[in-house]
Amino acid sequence: MSENQVNNPKRRAPGSENKKNEMKRLKYSGLAYHNRSNKDIAAKKARSFEVFCKCKYECRKLPYEQKIFLFEDYYKIANHVKQKSYLLGLIQIGSVKRRRKI
Ligand SMILES: [Zn+2]
Repeated sequence: MSENQVNNPKRRAPGSENKKNEMKRLKYSGLAYHNRSNKDIAAKKARSFEVFCKCKYECRKLPYEQKIFLFEDYYKIANHVKQKSYLLGLIQIGSVKRRRKI
């Protein structure tokens, strides 16, 4: 990095980097935050009632408490990269069985 770049960083309000990181932490913790255009984003909430899904993976059989546990487990990671690897560790990639016309 040249000296010019070091002495000439993009103009930012003091502490804005901290604020940005705090927003990120809130966002990936599923908590309420406001985005760059100051729009309020509500906190993520687990469904207060059981949702039944018709997929073939039998998630219907998963107890509601377990779903809440997974929800909290995911959001307490509070880091987008780690959340992605959390999911990737659980995903199995399969081959395409049937392609549908759009
Ligand atoms: Zn399902």
